[in-house]
Amino acid sequence: MTGHIRDLFFIPKCVFCQRILDSGCICEECERSLPRMNGSFRGVEFAEKCVAALRYEGKVKESLIRYKFMGRQSYSAEYAALINDALTKYLPSGWDEITFVPISLFRRFKRRYDQAELLALELSRLCGKRAVRYLVKRRHTPKQSQIRGAAAKRANVTGAYRAVRKGELRGKRILLVDDIITTGATASECARTLLMAGAERVYCAALAKAGGKEEGKS
Ligand SMILES: [Zn+2]
Repeated sequence: MTGHIRDLFFIPKCVFCQRILDSGCICEECERSLPRMNGSFRGVEFAEKCVAALRYEGKVKESLIRYKFMGRQSYSAEYAALINDALTKYLPSGWDEITFVPISLFRRFKRRYDQAELLALELSRLCGKRAVRYLVKRRHTPKQSQIRGAAAKRANVTGAYRAVRKGELRGKRILLVDDIITTGATASECARTLLMAGAERVYCAALAKAGGKEEGKS
């Protein structure tokens, strides 16, 4: 399909509720009512501080399902803009470079894109900090959402990631990006792997946070 013909079929819709739009990516109603987080939070072991733009509920959840499983990679630009807004408010400095929680090669092959990598690249464009792949997932693990219990989730991801480009990583303060933070087991394993490989400090940023409460503006 050529670009011109594709344009004829492309109808801009709200990223969150799929309402047809004249312009932009988010409708006025969603702009007003999105469940925004009002501060930073802890809860990811080995990370100093975490920021998420939204709570993982309702239409945020539905939007992320389209992003991850229904080929809507284009949502990454709007998601990154929301993460960038949250960072500007609650974590404007203290980190040097961006990296992301990678999916396994197996899942990457099936999905054809890595949802957190796209967020890291878009975020890099917005904030001007470099996005670097510092982690690879060395084995395919069952999805965290299919595992019950915090201890079992932690066991599922322990040792699942390996740091790469360790020479560049040494002494850096890293912002680790993912799409969703749930129990924090995956992000904390990635943070631990980065620290073991020489990173000075790790912060986390996600589009959405499932469960729990933020700690307030800090
Ligand atoms: Zn909407």
